[in-house]
Amino acid sequence: MHNTYDDITSRIAEPPIWFDEYSVPRYCPFSPDRSASIYVHEVALMEIACQSCGRIFRVAMSAVNFGESTIAEAIRSQELHYGDPPNVDCCLGGACENSVPKRILEYWFRGDPRYLDGRRITDMAYFEWIRDPSLEIAIERNE
Ligand SMILES: [Zn+2]
Repeated sequence: MHNTYDDITSRIAEPPIWFDEYSVPRYCPFSPDRSASIYVHEVALMEIACQSCGRIFRVAMSAVNFGESTIAEAIRSQELHYGDPPNVDCCLGGACENSVPKRILEYWFRGDPRYLDGRRITDMAYFEWIRDPSLEIAIERNE
């Protein structure tokens, strides 16, 4: 179960646009630079639904909240899952329900090994985020 961020949401009239890897509400457009971690090399924005009431959320996925494989592999194998939905009182007990993955809205990566010489970074392009629409697909697996 994620913590509630009602200290933030109660002060802002509009609903959050998306939630980060820790389910912190975000009010800016999603961007991979807005991940909860500045060190990750992959970030996806995924649409999920509360398993109990069906409310839709947009949530970030990265190595911060998914460590079973890379995000790309987990999308291809349909194994990517967020776990408990954001804790926004969507329904009675919703915050401790699971979530159902729906689809990948955005997939971004960086850190192309072409720009490495051993551990040395040879080109600043290493840090640039690249979007890969081929991984922006439905996740059909249901919990
Ligand atoms: Zn719910």
